[in-house]
Amino acid sequence: MSGYGGMRGFGMEGPGNTGPMQGSPAPNEHETVGAYALGILDDAEATAFEAHLATCEWCAQQLDELAGMEPMMAALADLPGAGTPAIGESLSARPSPRLVERLVDEVAERRAAKRRRGFYMVAAAAALIVGGPLVAVATTGSDSGGSNQAAPASPAKTLFSTMGDKVTGTDPSTQVTGTVGMAQKDWGTQAVLELKNVKGPLKCSLIAVGKNGERETVSSWSVPGWGYGIPNAKTEESKNPLYIGGGAAFKPNEIDHFEVMTFDGNKLVQIKA
Ligand SMILES: [Zn+2]
Repeated sequence: MSGYGGMRGFGMEGPGNTGPMQGSPAPNEHETVGAYALGILDDAEATAFEAHLATCEWCAQQLDELAGMEPMMAALADLPGAGTPAIGESLSARPSPRLVERLVDEVAERRAAKRRRGFYMVAAAAALIVGGPLVAVATTGSDSGGSNQAAPASPAKTLFSTMGDKVTGTDPSTQVTGTVGMAQKDWGTQAVLELKNVKGPLKCSLIAVGKNGERETVSSWSVPGWGYGIPNAKTEESKNPLYIGGGAAFKPNEIDHFEVMTFDGNKLVQIKA
């Protein structure tokens, strides 16, 4: 034995040069075991793999073999092609070389994928930050009349349009219509209110009322004199509904109904959840 010659150097003959970092383009579920052992899967991936692991003898055995090898594999994955002869000798238990090589490839691929994903997310966030002020200007500049297609939607309106879970109500006496879109979050319920046919000046709150009777304020706002969502209004700004977002600690299924209340204590509309 003359030491270990780099990546393929665990005393193996080597499977030949099949492209060191190519790996399998469509990895099957068994091949996730190495990344799982290293703890580099995200939560969804790890959960999916655990479901598989519960039913797979082979993966359970690989996982046993890999226990304690994380530092070695992590080091190898960080040094593609560089080779670290000492590291192989420091291993107390050696898995089959073929397995190690495949796992190292897999780890390197996943790290590269994560880096790419991270880069795109940073780029997307930067685009949002750069785009933000322009969108705001365009939105406030939309009161000159004309086509409302030209005005980009507000974030609350855009969010509202994507929400699948919506409840609506119209009060028979005030004729105010409220529609609440809901999305369940780890922290509770994200809500967006669409409010129509309301004239100001008013100050209002959206209250979520739980099945247990608790009341939580989701959001507060004021209504200018020209109002929101007025049918047949002469100006765009009073024709457009108000979209306002907020949140509550309730889960969606804990909410009995919503109330749009004025600060004076008048109920404008109640919406059954
Ligand atoms: Zn398996």
